[in-house]
Amino acid sequence: MCSNLSYPKDGYDVPQGNVLVLSCIDLRLTDNLQEFLNYDNLTNRYDLFALAGAALMTQRENPKLQGHFVTVSEEEKKKLHVWKDIWDMHLNISLDLHHIEDVYIVEHENCGAYKAYLTEAYLKKGEEKRHDEFAAALTTSIHATHPYLNVHTFYIDLRGNIKLLRTKKGVKK
Ligand SMILES: [Zn+2]
Repeated sequence: MCSNLSYPKDGYDVPQGNVLVLSCIDLRLTDNLQEFLNYDNLTNRYDLFALAGAALMTQRENPKLQGHFVTVSEEEKKKLHVWKDIWDMHLNISLDLHHIEDVYIVEHENCGAYKAYLTEAYLKKGEEKRHDEFAAALTTSIHATHPYLNVHTFYIDLRGNIKLLRTKKGVKK
């Protein structure tokens, strides 16, 4: 554990129950993510799910964001819902098996998936802002079906520093 790393000290309640973590697949940050989760006292208390770009492709068919994606063939377009469907299924499995109360969406700096799937014009908007936009959209979609979950969005830089982007408290069941 590197004590020089910066982690959020407040802004959200540290989860008391189990958590589902959505991260990117990026190999550079695997250890940093785990260290942060240990810091939040979540050792062996989270389900870990990784999608290239974390929240990115779960929002591929979001009407507010789909215009920012690079154009793909009709055939590819038909398959795109798979990303969101698989995410939704894992969220439900986590709820059924481990009764999760919180979701962590961990976006990161220099994400190759964002560069691969989004237009140049949108990429120029500022890196952290784009990640915040996609993570916020996923938070909204999680809350539409699971309003009792606490959802926290984070941004991790290439050194492993973590910043809280947003937190949305769940409503009591
Ligand atoms: Zn990435």
